[in-house]
Amino acid sequence: MRTYQNFIGGDWVPALSGKTAQTRNPADVREIVAEYAASDAADALAAVAAAERAAPAWADATAVARGRVLSKAAQLIEARKAELAELLTREEGKTLAEATGEVQRAADIFRFYGGISYTLGGRTIPHDLPGNLLYTVRRPLGVVGLITPWNFPVAIPAWKMAPALVAGNAVVLKPSGLAPALSLEVARALADAGLPAGVLNVVLGEGRAVGNAIATHSAVVALSFTGSHTVGHAIYQQLAKRMARAQMEMGGKNPTIVLADADLDLAATLVIRAGFGLTGQACTATSRVIVEKSVAAAFTEKLLAKARALKVGNGLTAGIDMGPAVSESQLLGNLKWVESAVAGGAQLLCGGHRLTSGELAQGWFMEPTVLGDVTPAMPIACEEVFGPVVVVIAAENFDDALRIANGVNVGLSASLVTRDFKNALRYTERIEAGVVKVNQISTGLALQAPFGGVKQSSTDSFKEQGVEALDFYTRTKTVYLDYSA
Ligand code: NAD
Repeated sequence: MRTYQNFIGGDWVPALSGKTAQTRNPADVREIVAEYAASDAADALAAVAAAERAAPAWADATAVARGRVLSKAAQLIEARKAELAELLTREEGKTLAEATGEVQRAADIFRFYGGISYTLGGRTIPHDLPGNLLYTVRRPLGVVGLITPWNFPVAIPAWKMAPALVAGNAVVLKPSGLAPALSLEVARALADAGLPAGVLNVVLGEGRAVGNAIATHSAVVALSFTGSHTVGHAIYQQLAKRMARAQMEMGGKNPTIVLADADLDLAATLVIRAGFGLTGQACTATSRVIVEKSVAAAFTEKLLAKARALKVGNGLTAGIDMGPAVSESQLLGNLKWVESAVAGGAQLLCGGHRLTSGELAQGWFMEPTVLGDVTPAMPIACEEVFGPVVVVIAAENFDDALRIANGVNVGLSASLVTRDFKNALRYTERIEAGVVKVNQISTGLALQAPFGGVKQSSTDSFKEQGVEALDFYTRTKTVYLDYSA
């Protein structure tokens, strides 16, 4: 069992109350993975104070100097990739291959923003008068708060921390209590890479106590949140009260449309990967397949064969395709969704049950689940489940499929499988989603490209990732300089 403290002002410190909490392996709950400081508001206040003290000097360092710290941290994370990936699998449950990819992604994110530091300039604008300079500079905001979920416990903290830090901000991070280990290991890497004390602070603890203290603190001038709608909406209102900058990234109900001309084997493979990869616990997971009626039966048959063939088990075991749900409540929530969908008229085509044979009884395992006869108005077709549950909805044609896809109040990622160039382009134009994919899985993002949702999936004023992420973490200052006299 590992032991982690809060990381505040460059020191590893216990919660002021002395309280601790533990995480358990969702694949085998007999195993305690780590023990943590169980913080409350007082610890969050200490973290914000440390960030306030460290912010001015970090803002005054050159962007290139800041970038060097990030690049070095990338090397340190990469050097420990195997160890960190195993820890991630033990704590969150995803397969070792998925965890290894995520740790590599975190290293790449730090490397990317380390390099970006060389380009962190502004714009020169022609002035109307001679002897005058007109240009913009990017300035850091000050202290920013980051609140992150459990499902990508290293990639999401990394894709918020890296642009925040390279832009010159001081950070207070509150990771999810369900899987905080990796964000603390990233903090360790940054400290070892030379990040000055107090520039990054990590506070562990229950969401309401710690997250609320960060979100309502007047010194926290901007907050980037990823998580559920309920929490995101509540935090957004807190930030709006004092006009703090807000970036709320929340859930989706991501469609994959399968048209009659599609390669149905490809379509089934893409839906399996996007629906059941990461145990369906990805914000961009395909949870709705909208299929043209004429091929619905043939497609569904292929989908079911592939879903039944998936191997569910401990993500550390070789050959496992899908790990457990992260927690008992997540598992029970998934099962309840299936039960109520069936009660509401959906047909259970495969899965739908908890897995309890042998060692699986020790964890939060569930069968990959496919529901048919689902109509667009059913709650299971509109609301996020966040588990390995895919619904199949039949559509008359492309336009009907598009209407169904757009008929929800969220819009994060959306995919289309077709060979028809015209429909592919129409889809990219008309689908209401922040990310559109054609003949690709709805999950999986390039770190160098902007990411974010539309509608209720996101506040949608700033994107994450790519060079665009810097817009949230900087403010533009316009400089007028007269040297004519
Ligand atoms: P959650 O909203 O329960 O928790 C997210 C974070 O908020 C955690 O750190 C939690 O401790 C904290 N928190 C909880 N209550 C709080 C409060 N009152 N004040 C401040 N902070 C509080 O979400 P989760 O279960 O950890 O994550 C799953 C959700 O995240 C899903 O809805 C998923 O779609 C979404 N998600 C979105 C994206 C995206 O980029 N759009 C990416 C990954 C996950």
